[in-house]
Parts: sequence; structure tokens; C-alpha cells
Amino acid sequence: MSDQCLKNKDLRGKFFDTLGNGHYDTAPMSRPGDPLLDAERLATAGTVIEREFRIADFARLADRLARPEGTATARFALSRIEGVAVGELSVRANAELTCQRCLAPVRRVLESESRLALVASDEVPVPADHEAVTCDPQRLDLAALVEDELLLALPLIARHADGEACALADTAAAEVKSDEPATMRRPFAGLKELLKN
Ligand SMILES: [Zn+2]
Repeated sequence: MSDQCLKNKDLRGKFFDTLGNGHYDTAPMSRPGDPLLDAERLATAGTVIEREFRIADFARLADRLARPEGTATARFALSRIEGVAVGELSVRANAELTCQRCLAPVRRVLESESRLALVASDEVPVPADHEAVTCDPQRLDLAALVEDELLLALPLIARHADGEACALADTAAAEVKSDEPATMRRPFAGLKELLKN
């Protein structure tokens, strides 16, 4: 496995498909509209697919961001459990959202890991701990799947956390400070001097 990873890194940037050999499949940059994947075939071969997408190409996600910039990475490790094509999908993107408190941009890492069972209908039993994705497993739209996962990974309400520079929080904090008596701000001021004596 580690040999495989190293080999894969060397070949990064070139498209290659090593079905039945290395079981690794990477592409320089993918986008919605790329050829659909035969997940049945890839699951049988135990293929690991690694893809990079431009966030700007994900229309539904781009709508939810302050600026649709940067890339999203996806790793999809396919295999077969109880005869069903399954895949562990990891997605990750660094996204610029809009803080709902101060309306300034706030950066968040969107990431998720899911165990998916690729089934043609709801009737097909899904292996334990797997989420059913109803699709044509021989024509899987990985880009749509990745975008769905990123949309699910969006925070319900994006806003700066405590300690981050939220414009609104800063203003509020500054007001509180200016109202405070000087002694309140530095309760131990002069303590060092006292200890010297
Ligand atoms: Zn904010």
C-alpha cells in the first residue's frame, strides 16, 4: 500500500488508469461533465480514485460561498461488500463563506468521510454502516457526489468563532473595553511593584 502511494505521487499530473494492476486512478483536474464512472467495474478491481475539482465548477456549492475559489479534493476507494459496489468517499475543500454576524468572509474547511453503497434501486440491501446512493452504478457521476458531500459539510450558520476576527464582535468588544474603569482592565497592575517590597 505504501509503495502504491509513492508510485502514485510520482505519476500525479498524468492521467492513468491502472485497473487490475495498481488499482489507482488519478486525474490532473476534474470537472462536472467528465465521463461517468463504471463503479461496478472499479469496485471489482478495488480501484482508488483521486480527483481534484475547481470549486467554481460546482454551481450549487458556489452559490453558497462568499467567493467560489480554490479546489476540492476527493478520494474514493471502491470495493465490494456482500456483492454490492461500495466506496469510501473522503472530500475536502477550503471554502470562503460569509459570516452571518458581520457579513465578512470566513474561511472554513469543508470535509466529510462517507461509506456509500452504490445501488440501482432502494430494494437492494445495503451493507451495514453504509449509506445508499441510488444511481446507475455503471454510470456514476462522481462530481455530483462530491458536490453533494461538500454541500452537506457546509455549516448550518457560518460565522466567525470566538477568537477569530469577527468585525461585529470586535466592535462590541471595543465598546465594552472603553467603558471599563482602568483598574478593571489591569487588575494586577502594580502587583509586581508590590512584590518587590
Ligand atoms: Zn464575523
